[in-house]
Amino acid sequence: MGNNKNIQPRKTLDTIQPYSPGKPIWEVQKELGLDRVIKLASNENPLGPSPKAVAAIQASLTELNRYPDADTTALKEAISSAYDVNPQQVIATNGADELITLVSEAFLEQGDEIIVPSPSFSEYDFGAHIMGATVVPVPFAENFQFDVDAIIAAVTEKTKILYICTPNNPTGTIISQSDIEKVLNAVSDVLIVIDGAYSHFADAPEYTNGIEFVKAEYPVVVLQTFSKIYGIAGIRVGFGIAPESVIQSILKVKEPFNVNALAQAAATAAITDVEHVRASQEANKAGREQLYKAFKELDLNYTESMANFVLVHIGPKGEEIYKALMAKGVIVRYGKTWGLPEYIRVTVGTPEENEFFIEVLTGLLAKQV
Ligand SMILES: *Cc1c(COP(=O)(O)O)cnc(C)c1O
Repeated sequence: MGNNKNIQPRKTLDTIQPYSPGKPIWEVQKELGLDRVIKLASNENPLGPSPKAVAAIQASLTELNRYPDADTTALKEAISSAYDVNPQQVIATNGADELITLVSEAFLEQGDEIIVPSPSFSEYDFGAHIMGATVVPVPFAENFQFDVDAIIAAVTEKTKILYICTPNNPTGTIISQSDIEKVLNAVSDVLIVIDGAYSHFADAPEYTNGIEFVKAEYPVVVLQTFSKIYGIAGIRVGFGIAPESVIQSILKVKEPFNVNALAQAAATAAITDVEHVRASQEANKAGREQLYKAFKELDLNYTESMANFVLVHIGPKGEEIYKALMAKGVIVRYGKTWGLPEYIRVTVGTPEENEFFIEVLTGLLAKQV
């Protein structure tokens, strides 16, 4: 027998909690023996993938013996023309999650700080923790609005990255263009990552995905994903747009073939699929209204969302209701991971899925009284 007990991982690994994804449909089905299970937990596109992306994948299958293009040339061209930037200002990644890791590896030393308006997406913390950096959370103000003054006040000489997730996951709230400008002009020597994973769902006039700040040469990384509106989460593509010098640094820590060939083909097609994007936006808007109406009728407080999910206040029975929803085949995300034990986050589904969720929730709440 060998002895592996003295093999020690890096100390910083103690700070890392494993990511807890939404349960997959098959698992809940199997565990509970249910016929109908709907997943409204991971902000996926209920209309399915971009049909153009699916066709592009099919057309690429016969060339899988070849390595993918390490420079993701066609995809970067498509992205740069969609956003009106140079291809040198673009990096494609294996999901936007990988971009967060790469940015962390490129810019964080041990002991550095990142600022995260909180609660937000957990991958920012993960990126900091693998590098031995510290997370400085800045709580949201009332109704989960960004507290711009508190964000600015949190910056120290150790701050390397400030994450602004807008629309924010899990609250659905946005920061206005003028407030981003205020932050950019108040801080220096801090890289600002503007996470626009849900940007295509935001329809408020004061909203921006931040691309104009990259064009104006601010130290900004605009982060985007193909997992949400484009509906191809399963094949993993994300990208960043930033000043060329920032992209050059991130490229140094990137593996050569990080975006696989099918993913490149799919994303290059999906970004031109205006029809699928428009249909997804319209369906989402109607779905949000459907949920709002039900929450009003149920007397539940919710946060108006600029994304494809809604954070809703259930109350002290939050966990019980979350579990009971699951037992009836409705998978949503429980707020406890964000320090919001009285809340659940529900992804906007198809009209039928939303209706099923509302029906089940209504039944459960009726039983409570
Ligand atoms: C889903 C999501 C991402 C990226 O997802 P990938 O699937 O890794 O591209 C990034 N940021 C936020 C806030 C998200 O919710």
